[in-house]
Amino acid sequence: MYISNHELKEIKKLFYKRIGQASHGLMYSIGQIIGEDIASQLEEYNFFQKARERLKEKGILEDIVFKEEEAEVRGSMEVDDKANGKTCSILEGILVALYENYKGKKLYCEETECESKGDNRCIFQIKEEII
Ligand SMILES: [Zn+2]
Repeated sequence: MYISNHELKEIKKLFYKRIGQASHGLMYSIGQIIGEDIASQLEEYNFFQKARERLKEKGILEDIVFKEEEAEVRGSMEVDDKANGKTCSILEGILVALYENYKGKKLYCEETECESKGDNRCIFQIKEEII
């Protein structure tokens, strides 16, 4: 199954309209399901290189650079020129699941820069989970 960028935007708009801010957490959780699924198909060897290939194949993003505590993304499927803030909450969930699987511990991911608000790429910080 394939969902177009337009359909994804409309679905996210619907969730926001129905449940407001809570839709962020829901999108994050949806991303975690996708990320877990991708991670389960990868081996430890070349983990992030393979993850990058899978994310590109799936059309989730155009390119990604995985760093120790940060990921830089170009062309996220969630970028919306008409939005006026960060929009990539599904990708936050996908990335946290990938890093958690690789590092074997609970983490948290927060997007700090986003193409949707005019930054030249989306930046995701990977942090130790704060409870
Ligand atoms: Zn973004």
